Amino acid sequence: MRPTPADHRPLRLLAILCAALLLGGCDRAADEPTWQETLLVFGTLVDITVHGGDEATFRRAVREVEDDLGYLHEALHAWQPGSLGRTNLLLATGGTFTAPPSVLPLVEQSRQLAEQSDHLFNPAIGQLIALWGFHGETPSTPPDEAAIAALLEQTPRMDQIVIDGIRLRATNPAVQLDLGAIAKGYAVDRALELLHDHGLVHAIVNAGGDLRASGQRGDRPWRIGIRDPRGEGMLAVVETRGNEALFTSGDYERYFEHDGVRYHHILDPRSGRPARGLTSVTVLHDDGTVADAASTALFVAGPEAWPAIAAQLGVDHVMVIDEAGAIQLTPAMAERVRFEQRQQPRIVPLP
Ligand code: ADP
Ligand code: MG
Repeated sequence: MRPTPADHRPLRLLAILCAALLLGGCDRAADEPTWQETLLVFGTLVDITVHGGDEATFRRAVREVEDDLGYLHEALHAWQPGSLGRTNLLLATGGTFTAPPSVLPLVEQSRQLAEQSDHLFNPAIGQLIALWGFHGETPSTPPDEAAIAALLEQTPRMDQIVIDGIRLRATNPAVQLDLGAIAKGYAVDRALELLHDHGLVHAIVNAGGDLRASGQRGDRPWRIGIRDPRGEGMLAVVETRGNEALFTSGDYERYFEHDGVRYHHILDPRSGRPARGLTSVTVLHDDGTVADAASTALFVAGPEAWPAIAAQLGVDHVMVIDEAGAIQLTPAMAERVRFEQRQQPRIVPLP
């Protein structure tokens, strides 16, 4: 997720969504129906497609997904009142408090992923993200140097949150959570689980191009498009195998330009500024929450360090594109990606 307001470029999202899910024409081969519905939840369009099952079950399951994602969006929103907002108020006090149940599992998992990524994925930098203005309408100017430096000096990190059962405490009052880099993955995982609970096991939940799939579409796998970060079209296609999530972090998702420089919403916690070097990172993994956090972490890691961080995070299907348009792939990802046009990607084994 990036729980942005729903008015954030809905038409563009719709275009990405339509292009991102390549359903591959009509469904002659399989005799079971394919159901589809698009929800406006989580600040984005979420496209739910199910193969098989009956329509009443599908519609009931979709209503539940809508309710659950709506609830999660409110609970995990970084800058509107809700469970995460309350958590942030309490973290700033330094006192011990009972964590809201909607927030606790993500805090635990985020802490672990932060450690595994050498804190390049660092959801404790909520104040820095707010300073850059990415908590509201897209800003138009970068913040001043002194303000960035002051926040950097406070070095908020996830390991400064003490977790004792269901109770939390921050040892650094500068820790303010922003779960924008992981919450969409978590939400997509929950949505797919819910569909499974209804017996809908051939399904795809696509939140603006970030998605999780399971099963297949009749006798064919689900085919997913990966967007070209600097073009309008698709760069490549992946066919999912069983339970898989595909998440991309890109510098084109949310940005502003100032004096000819692009400032986007993925910040390097070391510099306090937008991470430089890559334009897009795509991760294929069996867990959407991990895929989402990992795509952000590898984006921050940049063109040299991403393989080491991917290995630490346990993700081995990765594609990255640098600012010159050069593509690097892990061997496992190279086996899975089919490019739309001739490309000469560099295959990079993980350490
Ligand atoms: P998107 O939301 O476009 O899919 P990401 O998953 O990469 O992209 O999430 C970007 C969001 O994560 C930002 O809008 C911000 O809320 C948050 N964020 C930015 N930099 C970091 C970081 N280094 N670690 C953790 N969260 C971050
Ligand atoms: Mg992410």
